[in-house]
Amino acid sequence: DDTGVPGRVRVAVRLRPRNAEEMVADADFADCVELQPEVKRLKLRKNNWDSDTYEFDEVLTEFASQKRVYEVVAKPVVESVLDGYNGTVMAYGQTGTGKTYTLGRLGEEDTAARGIMVRAMEDILADVSLETDSVSVSYLQLYMETIQDLLDPTNDNISIVEDPRSGDVSVPGASLVEIRNQQSFVELLRLGEAHRFAANTKLNTESSRSHAILMVQVKRSVKGRYSILSSENGNNSHMVKSLKPPIVRKAKLVVVDLAGSERIDKSGSEGHTLEEAKSINLSLSALGKCINAIAENSAHVPVRDSKLTRLLRDSFGGTARTSLVITIGPSPRHRGETTSTITFGQRAM
Ligand code: ADP
Ligand code: MG
Repeated sequence: DDTGVPGRVRVAVRLRPRNAEEMVADADFADCVELQPEVKRLKLRKNNWDSDTYEFDEVLTEFASQKRVYEVVAKPVVESVLDGYNGTVMAYGQTGTGKTYTLGRLGEEDTAARGIMVRAMEDILADVSLETDSVSVSYLQLYMETIQDLLDPTNDNISIVEDPRSGDVSVPGASLVEIRNQQSFVELLRLGEAHRFAANTKLNTESSRSHAILMVQVKRSVKGRYSILSSENGNNSHMVKSLKPPIVRKAKLVVVDLAGSERIDKSGSEGHTLEEAKSINLSLSALGKCINAIAENSAHVPVRDSKLTRLLRDSFGGTARTSLVITIGPSPRHRGETTSTITFGQRAM
């Protein structure tokens, strides 16, 4: 199992169950996909007698629990962040297929419903010691190549800063809130969601048109140890000891709820639809190119093409762990979108 191996994108596919509307409207039609989780395969129906078969690192059926999805998709990345390596977890798929359900559910009334963000923080808080370590989060929205702070709506044009020497990416203009317990994190996510809704209402757009990006910074201090500097005549009683200062180990977990991958009609009549469509297509295709480059072990990952990939630059490829969950629906009506989502996932492997 190479779950935590850097330099390779792990790709899981998750199917959501039919919704009430699909149960009625598509009652006479079979699902467009058939999953074989034991052999990690997915069959995409071409017609009544023929289908294409695809393999993934993990195949999650409509019966997969949120806990299982977390364990398969995110836990290895969280563990490597706790070991000091950056990591990314992303959800890609058509609007309405379960990206936010998978990543962002708070599950306050029903803990079994909690999504990846909440479960990741729970594992992080359980592992760090808050006397010596710190956990802080930023929560951003990326819309039309502009970054907004979801924790402070007045902050609506945040720049990305790249350290030319270390390659570290940061957003110093964004709020960075220290998290000391799970409850305050859940409240922060709720606040971010409310701000996202308000910002999008003001811009007259939908949240499916923007990317939501949670960044969790984990700083751990690895204890300083006494080390022997010298000992005269090998005599232990003359040993000189010095206390080394603690080493601070930093790592970042980025969770990205991507904009809906559906083709947006570029001939749309709404004023900003064309610009929106171009910008979403730009960032998702730039992401696709970077993920392909990582999959092909290419020396050149073209991160500069979009703000999304510039933000993720130090969190995928290299020593970072990357996990992608592609979300699909069962409806035969969306077979075209489902096919393109599967193709995106396949090219990442
Ligand atoms: P997206 O973020 O991709 O647009 P959502 O996460 O908002 O999609 O999901 C769309 C709808 O489908 C929501 O009502 C959500 O509760 C439901 N849904 C998504 N995935 C599942 C799932 N695995 N099981 C049950 N309901 C789901
Ligand atoms: Mg969503």
